Amino acid sequence: MSDIIRLLPDSIANQIAAGEVVQRPASVVKELLENAVDAGATQLTLLVKDAGKTLVQVVDNGSGMSETDARMSLERHATSKISRSDDLFALRTFGFRGEALASIAAVAQVELRTRRPEDAIGTRLQIEGSEVLAQEPVATPAGTSVAVKNLFFNVPARRNFLKSNPVELRHILDEFNRVALANPQLALHLQQNGTEVYNLKPGNLAQRIVGIFGKNYKEMLLPCQEEVSGLRVQGYVGKPEAARKLRGEQFFFANGRYIRHSYLHHAVMTAYENLLAEDTFPFYVLLIEIDPARIDVNVHPTKTEVKFDDERTVYAVVSAAVRRALGAHHLAPRIDFELDTNFALPGHLQPETPDQTVSPAEYETFQRYFQRKPPTEGWEQLYPEPRRQPGLFGGPPAELRLDSLVNTPADETPEPSAEPMPPEALPGPPGVFQVRRQYVASQIKSGLLLLDQQAAHERILYERYLHRLGSGEPVVQQELFPERLALRPADFALLQEIKPEVEALGFAFELDVPQHTLVLTGRPADLPTSFNASVVETLLEQFKENRDHLKLNHHESLAAALAKRTAIRAGTALSAPEMQALIDQLFACPHPHHTPDGRKTLTIINWDTLESLFG
Ligand code: ADP
Ligand code: MG
Repeated sequence: MSDIIRLLPDSIANQIAAGEVVQRPASVVKELLENAVDAGATQLTLLVKDAGKTLVQVVDNGSGMSETDARMSLERHATSKISRSDDLFALRTFGFRGEALASIAAVAQVELRTRRPEDAIGTRLQIEGSEVLAQEPVATPAGTSVAVKNLFFNVPARRNFLKSNPVELRHILDEFNRVALANPQLALHLQQNGTEVYNLKPGNLAQRIVGIFGKNYKEMLLPCQEEVSGLRVQGYVGKPEAARKLRGEQFFFANGRYIRHSYLHHAVMTAYENLLAEDTFPFYVLLIEIDPARIDVNVHPTKTEVKFDDERTVYAVVSAAVRRALGAHHLAPRIDFELDTNFALPGHLQPETPDQTVSPAEYETFQRYFQRKPPTEGWEQLYPEPRRQPGLFGGPPAELRLDSLVNTPADETPEPSAEPMPPEALPGPPGVFQVRRQYVASQIKSGLLLLDQQAAHERILYERYLHRLGSGEPVVQQELFPERLALRPADFALLQEIKPEVEALGFAFELDVPQHTLVLTGRPADLPTSFNASVVETLLEQFKENRDHLKLNHHESLAAALAKRTAIRAGTALSAPEMQALIDQLFACPHPHHTPDGRKTLTIINWDTLESLFG
């Protein structure tokens, strides 16, 4: 019998290796941006089409490559960055495996144009699935342009596995932001589908933070700096009062590489102890500079974990830096944006494909919640007697301050799960009353029903909005005076991607692309007039949170976001009919027991429990 073991052809070996390096368009963005930074570029442009699925291109003004190097750069394990194994321990560049370009070229159509400043003519290379289709001299600006088209064109299974455009775009923006934060000295430009998302001028870290996250961050940054021998921590933390419900604006960089580090995160969180409102997360960008020999980054290319040889010292210094910044908060003058020193690091950063951080417990709650069956008993069975009040839904709307919220528009009235009684046969409602303007209490057959008014309303609205998204028949109220709202670039890009869905909810708007501005011309008819255009902004925030942390799909994320934003708050006084409507509508929901994000809406104290309270 002949021998059967064979070496894999390069193209297949490359495709297999690509599986590790290239997971999605954002991975390509990360690798290309890092290469450009490694090449000493001062201006980087990232062009993205179709959330990177059709095109990811990075154009830089860095060192460029010779003709031979250009050809070599596409071979596996071809790198200019290390030549001896010792080099591995003193790494200051991102790349060193020489895998990225080869991997990308194995699963996409790549066009590379490059010229060194000292050469008169550059090189153009065209590769498809590892196969070189063309190599020729070309007139091109000094620097390098790598265009990656139709990612996974030859691996349909992976292409189908890509997420929706807003999700992929979010990953791209995450990578871009990490590079931008770690390198405020670079000019960075991002265009998606031909429109500008970011145009970041070189500056200091504070200016960069404002450039990325928006002008209101100007007011909320506290500078940090702490140093012991061989270790320096500096950057900015957010004022505690500016902390948000959203995780995701926390960044550690170690020698310019983006890292995740739960132990160090803990150091920051404990420094904020008692200063934060419940369930809020502080903003921070902290740059850790440490002797490269005391940090191990030689882990998997897509990982952002690093090992410090002396974690406890790093913890202590991070903690001290943050505590000091917070302590000085009350005394310190505001940051002078122009004079502020630049915290740029000699090294670079290595972001990763961000993992969605849902704790196992959170996820489980959520899973459990979604697998929950609708309650077997209808709400009517909760009550000792028929109790529907005549005119509850039919009363003049003006009487109910929360009518638009509590009353379902006629076209969406949920099917009552039992035949309503003819009005004349109905007795008056049993006692419903409000406790601490937060809970609604009512006596039912099995005991005492308590609703959390805000949570209950959130559930009701969620079902309503979800239904509306599915039916595609929004009821829009035109605005007399269109309202303009400037959005953060990333939010604007996101809104462009999910425009149809936001419209399906009942918002009507135009997008002023050059100004990154939303022009609101209509709003959902049942949205109280007290909400202005900024409801869209918080909608986007919440949408990201729902999608990333709760892993809800598009419609669910949006419906939950709007419900959360518009539900009546704790502290709102409710009239008896409003309370009744809340109870009725909650039990008309298929899943009345929890909010979309898993909080309890109601509890029942049964008679036994009640009696046991009195011995
Ligand atoms: P690595 O970054 O790990 O070395 P890559 O596959 O990303 O591996 O790149 C291979 C080589 O190609 C790099 O070592 C570098 O010499 C060259 N190269 C890649 N991108 C650029 C660029 N934008 N400008 C100049 N040289 C580049
Ligand atoms: Mg590289």
